[in-house]
Amino acid sequence: MRSFEATKQYFQRAADELELAESLRTYLMMPRRELQVQIPVEMDNGELRSLVGYRVQHNRARGPMKGGLRFHPEVDLDEVRSLASLMTWKTAVVNIPYGGAKGGIAIDVSKLSARELERITRKFIDEIHEMIGPDSDIPAPDMGTDHRVMAWIMDQYNKYHGFNPGVVTGKPVEFYGIPGREEATGRGVGLLTIKLLGRLGRKAVGTRVAIQGFGNVGSHTAKFLAEAECKVVAISDSTGAYYRADGIDVPKALRHAIEHERLLRGFADAEHISNEQLLELDVDILIPAAVGGVVTAANAGRVKAPVVIEAANSPVDAEADAILDANGKIVLPDVLANAGGVTVSYFEWVQNRQYYQWSLDRVRQELDKTLTNAFEHTWTMARERKVSLRTAAFMLGIDRVARAATLGGIS
Ligand code: GLU
Repeated sequence: MRSFEATKQYFQRAADELELAESLRTYLMMPRRELQVQIPVEMDNGELRSLVGYRVQHNRARGPMKGGLRFHPEVDLDEVRSLASLMTWKTAVVNIPYGGAKGGIAIDVSKLSARELERITRKFIDEIHEMIGPDSDIPAPDMGTDHRVMAWIMDQYNKYHGFNPGVVTGKPVEFYGIPGREEATGRGVGLLTIKLLGRLGRKAVGTRVAIQGFGNVGSHTAKFLAEAECKVVAISDSTGAYYRADGIDVPKALRHAIEHERLLRGFADAEHISNEQLLELDVDILIPAAVGGVVTAANAGRVKAPVVIEAANSPVDAEADAILDANGKIVLPDVLANAGGVTVSYFEWVQNRQYYQWSLDRVRQELDKTLTNAFEHTWTMARERKVSLRTAAFMLGIDRVARAATLGGIS
């Protein structure tokens, strides 16, 4: 199933619960603007390549549109559209004053030199700079992009529009960024996992966790949960998965990745298994923190973990979601589970507008407060309406966007 179709299904289920009028549903699902651009770039070897870039602005009823830029070979318009709409619900679930957007380029960054990456980024901004801005649409990191890319975006945008640090978030801390943005998504996943465990009457200590993906999100999630005394029994990346029944030494794995071009290849202290096997491990919590669409109708029936935390965007597809639900699994949905990233992006944007540097302590405190509120609201909604956490989170988000749109006057 195509990505946007699956997101629409989740939307419709929540809209049914909210008894939303058909006309409002159509308005809320339809993206506001979609831009596809050609990015002609000269590679280091002199070859000319024409890449395709996208920016989709989904909805701006609650504020400037917000969402990351994904550089990945599988990026296409349908995926970006789906991710843009998820951002609209995500920013509404955590109640930060933003709408939703997303962008991307279909490219494999692992095959690029730093200079090529910089040229591609700047060329892309040349094509979309009129569409973005600190009061209209604010990009951020996503798969394949990082703080360096964000710094180039700010610099390139400023060439056209003057000094505007708040046009993009996820910047380097020493270049208008905020402390704690890099860890924010993983830290949020960890915080929410512990909150959910608490609600289920369980303690963190000794809880067996498997995490798919050891990039920015997965590695910070592993670090946070290991520090909370969970037993992280499996981690993985593109080189495969690494399993150890009595718990992986997470600090050691982090050091290994730093010393080996951010990869776990050769990590010796664990049994080497496949990424597919990791998803089916007999653990207490499964955290897919890599790409989308990894739990599908084909393997959902074999997921043994009673709790699945969607650290990635859309790791569980709609058919798999129904199977997990029927099997009594609890899924903490992406729009809440990984919202720590965009929440700290919001703090960064506030910091940029105030010209006042926030401390790491303040960032962590406010992140905890924002996510706790969102979690408690979602949990209560799910209990009261007897719906899944996903439907509850979508209900919260959709209701807030619908109210803002109606109050502001849609047409
Ligand atoms: N790309 C991240 C997400 O999917 C962060 C977006 C942001 O910080 O604007 O939530």
